[in-house]
Amino acid sequence: MLQGKTALVTGASRGIGRSIALELARQGADVALVYAGNEEKAQATKAEVEALGVKANTYRCNVADFDATKELVARVIEEMGGIDILVNNAGIVRDGLVLSMKEVDFDQVIDVNLKGAFNMIKHTYSHFMRKRKGRIINITSVIGLSGNAGQANYASAKAGLIGLTKSVAKELAGRGVTCNAIAPGYIATDMTDALSDKVKETMEAAIPMKKAGAPEDIAYTAAFLASDGARYITGEVIRVDGGLAM
Ligand code: NAP
Repeated sequence: MLQGKTALVTGASRGIGRSIALELARQGADVALVYAGNEEKAQATKAEVEALGVKANTYRCNVADFDATKELVARVIEEMGGIDILVNNAGIVRDGLVLSMKEVDFDQVIDVNLKGAFNMIKHTYSHFMRKRKGRIINITSVIGLSGNAGQANYASAKAGLIGLTKSVAKELAGRGVTCNAIAPGYIATDMTDALSDKVKETMEAAIPMKKAGAPEDIAYTAAFLASDGARYITGEVIRVDGGLAM
């Protein structure tokens, strides 16, 4: 399905990003794996992707850093021959009620989860325009649709990411580039493993399907959005949440 394409996936060392990288590779895409600092996990994902018979390179880069992301995109285009699919998946949480939330916790979450996606889109924009083809997939969250007590920073970033998705979709639609978002619900990864068993149980009980999703559930949707079958879909937000936010 994606033979001959190159995908850049941020946050590809672990969790949902790792799964997306593997699924895109399974469909035939070469993958640029971007991570923040977890060298060991990034190398493990690279080996798994390569075992699928495609090319994989790892790139350590903080997506919140405007200049670093500019260099990253230039390097990936040079070393991998271009970018066809951009997946903005890197994300962090710094939870707390607004009353106790530190300014730095608000800023960091906005910088990584929202500005990080802007940086990556900004630096790939003219590349996609020139190609008159491309796929941008942003990983938002159901929290960006509903808000959540204790996650004002995260909800703001993820809601902002939906606005960014729709704006970019409108800007690039005439150029053959689609931009869509996936809104995962509760997915079992390191990010959610930090929650207490009681919180996990409460969350699972609230999900109509009564269980957490797997990273692969997001990866299958990302692979579809990257495929030719999704060529007429843009500016869409697809919930993959077992019915949680319906
Ligand atoms: P995760 O397991 O915590 O993995 C986070 C990934 O992001 C890692 O690869 C990490 O790299 C990378 N990363 C973090 N900060 C970065 C930065 N500044 N620059 C570059 N890379 C950075 O998270 P996850 O659960 O897979 O979540 C992936 C995405 O899905 C996030 O955007 C998250 O908000 C969203 N999401 C998750 C859930 C869920 O239930 N898990 C639900 C809704 C939405 P290192 O390994 O190098 O640290």
